[in-house]
Amino acid sequence: MSITRGAIEAWLRGSAAAVATHRDELTRLDAAIGDADHGANMDRGFKAVVAKLSEGGEDIGALFRTVAMALISTVGGASGPLYGTLFLEMARASEGKTELSPEEWKAALEAGVFGVARRGKARRGEKTMLDALIPAVEELSLALSSGAPFAEALWRSERAAARGVRDTIPLVATKGRASYLGERSVGHQDPGATSSHLLVRAAALAFAPGQGGSETSDG
Ligand code: ADP
Ligand code: MG
Repeated sequence: MSITRGAIEAWLRGSAAAVATHRDELTRLDAAIGDADHGANMDRGFKAVVAKLSEGGEDIGALFRTVAMALISTVGGASGPLYGTLFLEMARASEGKTELSPEEWKAALEAGVFGVARRGKARRGEKTMLDALIPAVEELSLALSSGAPFAEALWRSERAAARGVRDTIPLVATKGRASYLGERSVGHQDPGATSSHLLVRAAALAFAPGQGGSETSDG
């Protein structure tokens, strides 16, 4: 099993569709602990990504770089540079490759998530997108190293991200806008973790369709 450029494109289109579907939910979550723009920010960003998909050749690294630039120039807020960093690091890890093995996909994602943590000066448990991304990449890694088939690894990773999103609810935000609320951020799901889960879920749907994951019913 290897991930072709076409599969990566399917992932990005699927991510854009999921973000559009969940735009209002992301906005509602951000209204509770932020400034109610995360849905609009992400939808604008991923529409820009889709508009750029036909550019460039077969190089997945170049494609990820284009995605990063589209997100950085359109998303804004805290999440724009952070998702931009995710894709810039994924680009660096995929430079010159026209397809990725499961291990290479994991390595690229891991590099991206490390990049987000570095850029955001954040770690797990601070009620951010990292609370979905870190468990997702850890579970993917664990599953692959224990010899699980790629499809199973992807869906285990998706479920870990979904749990990570739920686990943000009781957390106190210590990074980003939500941190201004301190204790009042408790009891709310983090919008960025929610959008990150949509991306992880879109990857499982694109690379291993029909295998099933967390109970979320749509893409
Ligand atoms: P803004 O907060 O500037 O309005 P968005 O609403 O688009 O930007 O994104 C908010 C999300 O960004 C949060 O829900 C959180 O997941 C994520 N975020 C904010 N700051 C950080 C950080 N330092 N590290 C990681 N993620 C962060
Ligand atoms: Mg916001």
